[in-house]
Amino acid sequence: MGGWLLPDTEMSFRLSPQQEEFRDTARKFARDVLTDVAAECERTGAPVSADVRRKMGELGFLGINIPEQYGGLGGGKIDSLIVLEELAKISPAAAFPVFESNCGPTQTLLYAAPEWLKKKILPQVCSGDYMVSVAMSEPDTGTAMTDLTTRAERKGDKLVINGTKRWCSGAGYSEGYVLYCRLEDKPGGAGVGAVFLRKTRLASALAARKNSWGFTAFTTPKSIWITSRSRLKTSLSPPAVCAT
Ligand SMILES: Cc1cc2nc3c(=O)[nH]c(=O)nc-3n(C[C@H](O)[C@H](O)[C@H](O)COP(=O)(O)OP(=O)(O)OC[C@H]3O[C@@H](n4cnc5c(N)ncnc54)[C@H](O)[C@@H]3O)c2cc1C
Repeated sequence: MGGWLLPDTEMSFRLSPQQEEFRDTARKFARDVLTDVAAECERTGAPVSADVRRKMGELGFLGINIPEQYGGLGGGKIDSLIVLEELAKISPAAAFPVFESNCGPTQTLLYAAPEWLKKKILPQVCSGDYMVSVAMSEPDTGTAMTDLTTRAERKGDKLVINGTKRWCSGAGYSEGYVLYCRLEDKPGGAGVGAVFLRKTRLASALAARKNSWGFTAFTTPKSIWITSRSRLKTSLSPPAVCAT
């Protein structure tokens, strides 16, 4: 008979044997490799090297909940958080590629990007050759994304983006950016979508670094001024990720 606090239920909060094995692999990698990497990142202020990112990719850490057809392991969100927790215990900055590849902008790409873009970018993210950052926050827009003002407009075959972003972790380092902006002049969230920009397309001026404890190695700049003119390759209708 079920107790008062623990009614009979099929729900289990235990990790499966595979999840435990994956957690142990992550814990060992964190202790054996990331401790020195984190110390070096804190000392130099540089993010984790491409080599370390590729090692994370080889272990499957960068595509845990990305479907296999895009180079990931096809696991679940809990699986990715188990690994992220083990790495972030050592250093949030050193764990950042795992966060961005599993929980951040790649999920937006999976949800709303055109198929060709997913096929082009996601396998490279999973292997550690490519990192994608997210630019959501603005000087007057934090949690309430419905207030954002950065605007993307079609001008002929070009997409012109104007606005100011802040706190884009990895700005200036990451190869790609999912940039949230207003695609239509509709109130609230109705006109909001995203644009995928490669670093070379991002005409950005990085203001003074704003460092956070434990996050020194990942720049979260105060402001990035965006004025980009890119050739538009997809339609411009929210909530799609427009590709340039
Ligand atoms: C280390 C670090 C890294 C970051 N990296 C990135 C990044 O890579 N890219 C990026 O775009 N941003 C990034 N951010 C910004 C982050 O995602 C949040 O957008 C930001 O911290 C919240 O904005 P704010 O501080 O102005 O708080 P506010 O938005 O002002 O929120 C303050 C409080 O009010 C509440 N609140 C606000 N609006 C509402 C509402 N409409 N209804 C109910 N409650 C509300 C919030 O829940 C919160 O408790 C980062 C932040 C940090 C600290």
